[in-house]
Amino acid sequence: MISPVLPTYARAKVSFERGEGVRVFTPEGEEYLDFGAGVAVTSCGHAHPHLVKALTEQAHKIWHTSNLYQMPGQEKLAGRLIDATFADTVFFTNSGAEALECSIKMARKYHAFHGHPEKFRLITFEGAFHGRTLATIAAGGQAKYIEGFGPKVEGFDQVPFGDLEAVKKAITAETAGILIEPVQGEGGMRPVPAEFLRALRQICDDNGLLLVLDEVQSGVGRTGKFFAHQWTGITPDIMAIAKGIGGGFPVGACLATEKAAAGMTAGTHGSTFGGNPLATAVGNAVLDVVLADGFLDGVQQRALTLKQKLARLKDEHPAIIEDIRGTGLMMGIKCKVPNTALQAAALDQHLLTIGAGDNVVRLLPPLVVTDADISDAVDRLDRACRALEAKAA
Ligand code: PLP
Repeated sequence: MISPVLPTYARAKVSFERGEGVRVFTPEGEEYLDFGAGVAVTSCGHAHPHLVKALTEQAHKIWHTSNLYQMPGQEKLAGRLIDATFADTVFFTNSGAEALECSIKMARKYHAFHGHPEKFRLITFEGAFHGRTLATIAAGGQAKYIEGFGPKVEGFDQVPFGDLEAVKKAITAETAGILIEPVQGEGGMRPVPAEFLRALRQICDDNGLLLVLDEVQSGVGRTGKFFAHQWTGITPDIMAIAKGIGGGFPVGACLATEKAAAGMTAGTHGSTFGGNPLATAVGNAVLDVVLADGFLDGVQQRALTLKQKLARLKDEHPAIIEDIRGTGLMMGIKCKVPNTALQAAALDQHLLTIGAGDNVVRLLPPLVVTDADISDAVDRLDRACRALEAKAA
């Protein structure tokens, strides 16, 4: 008999009823160290007092009005995102995939607005993940997500990761832009080299294309800058964000330059819930934390600590760990054993991690993680590796 909840997830047999900072607790009171952060979502940790206060204060005022009226919370959050980025304008969504949908529609509309509706195709990269809607599975290009759901949405041309010549060859009279994650998350924690992103910017400029970044996972401080592309010196025309900006409340956004957003006039796009008062109250509270003086410097320092400790772990467990990759607090352990085995062994040590493609285990702790939490997590990983080695012996 089918389960009451549609069985589309392979869930671990554990549930959590409470969280505090980097730790979560089962109904029986057992403590787990959360180095998954709900897939890079709980950027400020669980039950951050400032976020709890912002949400509960807003809950006592008004929850929802719709986008038919002025939205002061959206205006404030949009203004702050604009001040801290390349963007001139923001559309709020409830999820990452919807932020991508808006970004894809905007890139197409830009060219239609300028008299070129035939330019609707986006170049994407192997290993990409952009969400689970019909357009975003087509953009991601992974057969396992596409098969069985009818004709693939037209308009996405995938090229190998890091292959600049293939990008140039893929450009046709129908190309609208290039869509890329600055750090591939689901694809296996693969950072895109800065020079590659700069080259893509140049290609876009030379060919009248739009550069669309998917910073749903890499954004909002995850790499130690507000957004990952800020390490490279280039800016996109359009950017999708979500996950960390809501700290656990569902909110996403599409950020764009005025030029790129030119065709998105009244009636061209919409969302019932997108950026409702609860969502933007929390989003603003997240920015209070993440954009506070010195916070991102702290993320960079702690990321270095994590990287160094993981490098040592790799040296100590050569039969388990092939490589350490990633950037900032977005690290991946490329495994020699099945990644699911390392994840399960880590879970036995009460450490939450996230799987990724290419046999990688992801470590995505809340950005407020401390050096002591990092030592604790790496000790648990060490014990998990030892348990796997003992089993194999
Ligand atoms: N883009 C990237 C890079 C992601 O990592 C994800 C989710 O994991 C998405 C898009 C889709 O976001 P959501 O699951 O909120 O729709």
